[in-house]
Amino acid sequence: QKIQEMSQEVHDDNPYSRLMALKRMGVVENYTEIRNFTVLIVGLGGIGSVAAEMLTRCGIGKLILFDYDKVELANMNRLFFRPDQAGLSKVEAAKQTLLEINPDVEIDAFSYNICTMDNYDHFIQQISTGGKNGEAVNLVLACVDNYAARITMNRACGDLNQVWMESGVSEDAMSGHIQTIYPGETACFECAPPYVVASGGDEHEIKREGVCAASLPTTMGVVAGLLIQNTLKYLLRFGNVTYYLGYSSKTDYFPNYMMSPNPECPFRRCVEMQKVYNENPEKKRVKPENT
Ligand code: ATP
Ligand code: ZN
Repeated sequence: QKIQEMSQEVHDDNPYSRLMALKRMGVVENYTEIRNFTVLIVGLGGIGSVAAEMLTRCGIGKLILFDYDKVELANMNRLFFRPDQAGLSKVEAAKQTLLEINPDVEIDAFSYNICTMDNYDHFIQQISTGGKNGEAVNLVLACVDNYAARITMNRACGDLNQVWMESGVSEDAMSGHIQTIYPGETACFECAPPYVVASGGDEHEIKREGVCAASLPTTMGVVAGLLIQNTLKYLLRFGNVTYYLGYSSKTDYFPNYMMSPNPECPFRRCVEMQKVYNENPEKKRVKPENT
């Protein structure tokens, strides 16, 4: 009889029953809260598209997706997109697939460059009012592959005091990272510039035009998993949300640390937010135990 009960649980019609069991097992207080949350994702490449699928399968309330590119056959070494979607805009193709997987997710999708002057106002409006009831979104995820887009997101989230997570995979596809940015509390993207910029090199080298970067669905899948695991921890308030988590695939090394903000950060708003944070000790969030 015990076995019958167990198999009944496994074959429960509700695809979310396994997720709801997280409550019974004492992991989260209330998993169903996930339906109230909105996550905004910029970039639906190797990391962002998989991240969007994971959130969709977890029953997220709303996704707001941005990407200016089309699906290409050359992208088929990545997960998520299918050959028959070649030629469609990534956001349109993603919206189709994600709604097939879970029609309960509300999805807004915008096919444009977030960096241009014309689109920037619309973009920040989506961050500040894109939530399910017109409030700010709960989290912003950067899954882009270039410096300019990361700077735009750093400025937008800094100006709006919006918590966001940055992610990336190295050009040789062997390592990756995720980083959570709490304006004023942790280093922003400009506090600790990437090595090439810090050493006076050409910032365009970060993503060299015309150079074909390597990419592996494995590394990108791992980084997407780390990103969304930390998104779930942040939204549903369980475990420790990482500050900076690296992944070095050759040695299976996962460095994990906090980066303090730079009081001389070139982004003025970051320095202002650091003052606000330091002057309001009661507003300090509890630091994750593992840092
Ligand atoms: P590759 O560069 O190797 O051809 P990719 O462009 O798909 O692949 P990824 O790193 O897998 O690169 O994904 C990054 C995604 O971010 C891309 O889909 C790209 O179109 C998107 N992206 C980058 N910058 C912007 C931007 N400014 N506005 C909107 N989307 C952007
Ligand atoms: Zn900064």
